[in-house]
Amino acid sequence: MTDLQSLTFDKLQSLMIDMGEKKYRAEQIFSALHNGKRLNETSNLPMALVEKLQENYIDNPISIVKVQNSSDGTQKFLYRLADGNVIEGVLMQYKFGYTLCVSSQVGCRMGCKFCASGLDGLVRNLTSGEIMSQIICVNSYLGGDIKDRKVSNIVLMGSGEPLDNYDNVLGFISLATDKHGLYYSERNISLSTCGLVPRIYDLADSGYHIHLCLSLHAPSDNIRGEIMPISRAYHYDELIDAVRYYSEKTNRRILIEYIMIKDVNSSKEHALTLAKKLKGLNCMVNLINLNEVKENDFKKCSNDTLSSFAEVLMSYHISVTTRRSLGDDIDGACGQLRRKYMNEEGDLC
Ligand code: SAH
Repeated sequence: MTDLQSLTFDKLQSLMIDMGEKKYRAEQIFSALHNGKRLNETSNLPMALVEKLQENYIDNPISIVKVQNSSDGTQKFLYRLADGNVIEGVLMQYKFGYTLCVSSQVGCRMGCKFCASGLDGLVRNLTSGEIMSQIICVNSYLGGDIKDRKVSNIVLMGSGEPLDNYDNVLGFISLATDKHGLYYSERNISLSTCGLVPRIYDLADSGYHIHLCLSLHAPSDNIRGEIMPISRAYHYDELIDAVRYYSEKTNRRILIEYIMIKDVNSSKEHALTLAKKLKGLNCMVNLINLNEVKENDFKKCSNDTLSSFAEVLMSYHISVTTRRSLGDDIDGACGQLRRKYMNEEGDLC
């Protein structure tokens, strides 16, 4: 059964007309759903309409099953989907408000060697409504609604590869930016990809000017090939060309994510090679120390290694930030909490 949250405002309006209802019902339903309500919690809809919709649609595609609080204020959410699958999200508090990291798939088929999300492969794509509902749920959890949004920024950086679920992710962006709902600005939405080159071009041409983050994690094809199987499909230089096109088309600076892994990609020579590859690209490099996961042997770097790497990049006039390591004590890395939960509770699906 489809979830009602996946319907765009226009689709909901057409549905109302098809059902012989007044057009304004679409506005009432859309705003109720985006305020975190279920159909039978609304006061302004006729019971007959609610019942008819409930026969054909799910109106609560996800629910929060667990919230874990970190000592640094980060919160990790575990959600259950209507079919019993489990996904996760991380809420980070900054000076300007809350940023919610949302998942786009159950599992992932990209197989990055350092990541816990892809260990079991892809289970299934999330619908646009399931992606949207993560934000709706957390917003309500924080006491917000469509007039007083609590989650101010969204990052598609949770489990899954968003560009591997392209249509639903685009549908989600349309829902999130709809003026009848939570009405996010494209400027407050970021998408992180491991580099599906053709989809990067599609996204650039989609008309949405969201921020793009590229999980690059290596200075060359050789090293990237060891840790990210996707690099066998698209070469390093094609990937840099694609994000250059994205940046030029959307006028957005690209965020290059670079996980620092001991003895793999973190020497000064690696930094030098990276600096040369990024020359002329409108970008900023975000160095992230590896979040160690027990499922593999990769180790994180010392602070000195991080500083030396950053210095080399800066000497080539590349902007660098080092990501605060948030939520280390709550299995903050991608896919870790879901995995732990599944191991404890057995197979939930
Ligand atoms: N598939 C997308 C988004 C999901 S992963 C992508 O690859 O960008 C979100 C980010 O977390 C990516 O940059 C990913 O490389 C990073 N990540 C995954 N496992 C990690 C780990 N163990 N430590 C630090 N970062 C990790």
